[in-house]
Amino acid sequence: MKTGRLFVISGPSGAGKGTICQRLASGTGGGEANSPVLSVSATTRAPRPGEKDGVSYHFVTDEEFRGMIDRRDFLEYAEVFGCFYGTPRRTIVRTLEEGRDVLLEIDVQGALQVKRNYPESILVFVLPPSIRDLKKRIEGRGSESAAQIAKRVGEATREIAEIGAYDYAVVNDDIAKTVAEIKEIMGGRHARMADGEAREIIARFNADAMGLG
Ligand code: ADP
Ligand code: 5GP
Repeated sequence: MKTGRLFVISGPSGAGKGTICQRLASGTGGGEANSPVLSVSATTRAPRPGEKDGVSYHFVTDEEFRGMIDRRDFLEYAEVFGCFYGTPRRTIVRTLEEGRDVLLEIDVQGALQVKRNYPESILVFVLPPSIRDLKKRIEGRGSESAAQIAKRVGEATREIAEIGAYDYAVVNDDIAKTVAEIKEIMGGRHARMADGEAREIIARFNADAMGLG
């Protein structure tokens, strides 16, 4: 049997990764029969209102997380915005072996670790139309304080600076269009990032962030 493929979706907080993955994945009401399985990470972050343990994340204590690191339970893990996040190795390996594609929604540091360990993984970077839109989206989500929003927006250009390591870049302007584009990527019907494209994207967002002060 053919093994599944490992897709990694990352991008700045507020770019729309969560919304996109919900629509792409099976078992979330959004995907189709052969759609990818969305991996559920472990995190030390506190649940947001409405987030269910085992669905959005496995919510664990710092001590439990350290135990999982020691037992080599993670395919990758990283500290993001002061909390730990990790991708469970065993479930992913099993799902891939069953021939099903897996979708990881993880930060840039994690994506680079995955690419190092699994060079055949396919990395997709989701960009907001602009930094201003990014800020509006995080504010609109209403789940972070003003200080946390500033931190996430400030981090965005540093994350975008790593886009050269990704295979594909998608601007999440219209959500339906973005989901269709990522389905094309998964079906192998989309062009990879062209030479020089990463550099242009980085320059555009740096200028954009400076313009906002
Ligand atoms: P992330 O997972 O990247 O942090 P979310 O999926 O939580 O981002 O999206 C951040 C906010 O932006 C949410 O309130 C979501 O509904 C909204 N959003 C997502 N995609 C779009 C889009 N294409 N246009 C407008 N708003 C969007
Ligand atoms: P949030 O707290 O908004 O759910 O997620 C914050 C950041 O952590 C996002 O960029 C998200 O993609 C990332 N993240 C979620 N799970 C993982 C994971 O298992 N590993 C890594 N490296 N990052 C993750």
